[in-house]
Amino acid sequence: MISNRSKRLDSSGIRKVFELAAKIENPVNFSIGQPDFDVPEEAKEAAIEAIRKGFNRYTLTQGIDELRHAVLEEVKRSRGKQYEISEVMITSGVSGGLMLALLSLLDPGDEVIVFDPYFVMYKHLVHLLDGKAVILSTYPDFRLPVGEVEKAITSRTKAIILNSPANPTGYVYPEEDIRAIVEVAKRHDILLISDEIYDGFVYDGKLSSPVGLYDKVLLLGGFSKTYAMTGWRLGYAVGPADLIATMIKLQQYSFVCAPAPFQYAAVKALELDMTPYFEAYRRKRDIIYEGLKDSFDIVKPGGAFYMFPGLKVGRASEFVEMAIARKVLIIPGNVFSERDTHFRISFATKDEVLERGVEILRGLSEEYYAKVR
Ligand code: PMP
Repeated sequence: MISNRSKRLDSSGIRKVFELAAKIENPVNFSIGQPDFDVPEEAKEAAIEAIRKGFNRYTLTQGIDELRHAVLEEVKRSRGKQYEISEVMITSGVSGGLMLALLSLLDPGDEVIVFDPYFVMYKHLVHLLDGKAVILSTYPDFRLPVGEVEKAITSRTKAIILNSPANPTGYVYPEEDIRAIVEVAKRHDILLISDEIYDGFVYDGKLSSPVGLYDKVLLLGGFSKTYAMTGWRLGYAVGPADLIATMIKLQQYSFVCAPAPFQYAAVKALELDMTPYFEAYRRKRDIIYEGLKDSFDIVKPGGAFYMFPGLKVGRASEFVEMAIARKVLIIPGNVFSERDTHFRISFATKDEVLERGVEILRGLSEEYYAKVR
């Protein structure tokens, strides 16, 4: 009954940790990919009001005009480029945007360049569509391997996926690397898909984005993380009009539209200043980095709410099992990578949980290194 293409997909290793988490009492939970604050009150009120006012029906497939305009204004403010209304659509999360983009772009056998470590969906969605994910390592410093990209491009390359700030590393690409990758993409006339869902969570310096440097950029942005509304399923896609038109056509036959009342609430959300929330996360980043930097090989995350420590020796999946036995929930790096040397920590949790987790992980690292050395 079940298609071979779906059988090829392994269900996410993150889910396995979630299932374990549900069974453990009072864990140190470093596995959650969403903020620990709640949706701001004003946005909640706007959603409730929208429901009461009767905005409960289908919207236009591309999303309501108010929100599309508000998104374009936000993109102009933050990234300096003015897009046309035909170049923006509202999606069901960035996940929805990614799915529609890849469906619009890929024929069987087409290639997409993905950087390892990667957000899980990239590789799996490409494979689901009978495309080929060409995976390029960014270890050990997570910088873009620009020279390797140049070599990896073939006549089948349809896109390069960028993600900064990144999941699972929290890494923020330096401006010079963005410029270098844009040059490569321009030279080969290849689309850049830039997943900027963590754009609010940037702790040192400013966000670097290919938007405005090149016409063939598809910006995928979201509301899930910035406003802690992961369950509202809202995102947006901004880019070349022909690609957006194709994505809208496919949305018509799949998601139909993003949730109507939440689209109205998102207009309100875009007016809110979330800076204090991001500031609190910078402090959390500092606590976790300072606490663990001597025990593991760590690239200090410049954004998002993840850190991706590497073990000095041994296998991460083994280490993660030990950590889970001590009630510290972390995700083995091989969920996001072809390697089994790192693990992901999400620091979107209370400071006291961070401190407790740091203590346990430090002790555990010594124990584990002694065992495998
Ligand atoms: N991209 C990245 C890099 C992510 O981490 C996530 C969520 N974990 C998504 C996209 C999808 O987010 P959503 O569909 O909730 O917008």
